[in-house]
Amino acid sequence: MRSVKLLLVLIVVALVAAVVYVYASPSSTLDGPKAPAIPVAQSGSAQPLPSGLVMPVQGVKSDQLTDTWHQSREGGARVHEAIDIMAPGGTPVLAALPGTVEKLFQSDRGGTTIYIRTDDSKWTAYYAHLRGYAPGLAEGQRITAGQLIGYVGDTGDAGPGNFHLHFALNRMAPGERWWQGTAINPYPILAGKPSGS
Ligand SMILES: [Zn+2]
Repeated sequence: MRSVKLLLVLIVVALVAAVVYVYASPSSTLDGPKAPAIPVAQSGSAQPLPSGLVMPVQGVKSDQLTDTWHQSREGGARVHEAIDIMAPGGTPVLAALPGTVEKLFQSDRGGTTIYIRTDDSKWTAYYAHLRGYAPGLAEGQRITAGQLIGYVGDTGDAGPGNFHLHFALNRMAPGERWWQGTAINPYPILAGKPSGS
């Protein structure tokens, strides 16, 4: 009888140890969709980058990205100041960084678009060619990083069936409005490696 009790105690101890091991393991964090590791801007750098971005298309991995920054567009009339992230139509588009919806805009080129400004007013994230907005999305709405804001589409000049998210990051000078700003290449931030690699 004593040996049966000892056996039961050993089984319980083993179970507890297994549970502790699983929860302590770094590969089993339970916080849902993971943002890629983004290099955090060093304090004191002249042009700090937004840090802690979330991949703006659900299910896309960093190593699936192609650097489409400064590709020629419209026969060389302008260059591409964004990254195109390919995904099936209807794939959820997530806010790459938190902020406030500054403008929901229908444009000839961008189609159905969203502009979200960060709380410090220094950055605007731009999402274009959307099939549609997340239900209830409105200008002035507070958005958290990773929040559903829309769906991948082919609106604007994307071309029928050429489903992708056009994602731009614009550095905003004081007083600049939603259609202004200076674009930086989102690829190194989202891919976690330098442009051209
Ligand atoms: Zn594009």
